[in-house]
Amino acid sequence: MRMAIAGAGLGGLTLARILHRNGIDAVVYEREASRAARSQGGSLDLHPESGQLALAEAGLTGRFRSAARPEGEELRILDPAGRTLLHHRPQPGSFSGRPEIDRSALRDLLLDALPHGTVVWGHRLVAVAPGPDGGFRLEFADGHRADCDLLVGADGARSTVRSLLTDAEPDYVATLAELNISDVDRRYPDLAELVGPGNLWCLGVSRLLAAQRSGDGSLRIAASLPADDHHIGNKRALLDMFHGWEPRLTALIEAGDGRVWPRRIEALPTGTRWAGRPGVTLIGDAAHLMPPVGEGANQAMLDAAELARELAADPADPHAAIRAYERGMFARIGPIAEMSARVHAMMLSPTAAEDIVRFFTAPR
Ligand SMILES: Cc1cc2nc3c(=O)[nH]c(=O)nc-3n(C[C@H](O)[C@H](O)[C@H](O)COP(=O)(O)OP(=O)(O)OC[C@H]3O[C@@H](n4cnc5c(N)ncnc54)[C@H](O)[C@@H]3O)c2cc1C
Repeated sequence: MRMAIAGAGLGGLTLARILHRNGIDAVVYEREASRAARSQGGSLDLHPESGQLALAEAGLTGRFRSAARPEGEELRILDPAGRTLLHHRPQPGSFSGRPEIDRSALRDLLLDALPHGTVVWGHRLVAVAPGPDGGFRLEFADGHRADCDLLVGADGARSTVRSLLTDAEPDYVATLAELNISDVDRRYPDLAELVGPGNLWCLGVSRLLAAQRSGDGSLRIAASLPADDHHIGNKRALLDMFHGWEPRLTALIEAGDGRVWPRRIEALPTGTRWAGRPGVTLIGDAAHLMPPVGEGANQAMLDAAELARELAADPADPHAAIRAYERGMFARIGPIAEMSARVHAMMLSPTAAEDIVRFFTAPR
């Protein structure tokens, strides 16, 4: 069986690794030119029941623990006047919570665990057609072609593979503006102290200013605004958005290096599913792009683990394995996508501070 995975993100790489451990080889086609082609972004918290479980099935728990930062789970929530509303401190050194790991470290850990040549770089999938002898013919932007019997779309938010299964399109749900502050302990010790070892959220009226410490000693600053607030291409415009906030908080924007990176945040409609088609399926953001409230990467990795488990259990009938995976994935993702949409809307609501503190302190 010739198996192709489109996309070497966290979902695609986790799938390739677990399949390889089960004696199933796959080729991963990735549009980026190399592993270093692009900065991978900030850090992620991996949950025990999803991201960490997938890494255990990938045989990578030890390497994850060496690279992860349990103290990065710390979360401080402030109001625009700088008053602390909530302060969550994890148990020191414990991996039982949601330790943080830099995205680049996690991706490297997965890439290093794959046989050389598994990832074919510089291959942007642009079209999929029926194969000459069954299966699929993949067409890449540079004119290359490849055939496969089984295709997994792990190609993220703007998936090319998705259109084989559903017409669903992502909606524009928020605008995010990002900045970076490098070498923060030396250059801005007061800001390092304010943010602490993990995450800081400052919740205002329909806007959120967040800061996150990365393993390389930098801070990533992100301003979240409703979808139509998109005039934030520079620091001045961003500072105007947060006018009147406590100067220690706006100092996070002023200290940002270089330019502001605005981006659209999109999500697929909750409840997106498809009828099923032999030989092809989706994992991760390609299947269920959600607003970013800490589930997307975790669920992408769990999708990978569950699909790999089904394929390994029944290699002679991959179509039945895909059907079983999709049934489980749809049932699992439905409530998570709804919760993510609800929490995200809450974070950008006029009453975000009270709503989020109530959410975090409600008995579970
Ligand atoms: C600001 C922000 C913060 C977030 N924070 C968190 C968090 O704290 N915790 C969490 O769990 N999730 C978080 N997420 C969500 C998380 O980033 C995604 O859900 C996760 O990366 C999805 O993994 P994936 O493998 O499905 O897709 P991706 O990570 O997007 O990987 C897709 C891969 O496919 C490649 N690709 C795309 N198109 C093609 C093509 N046509 N041909 C070939 N290759 C292609 C891409 O280059 C990429 O390498 C956050 C998201 C954002 C935007």
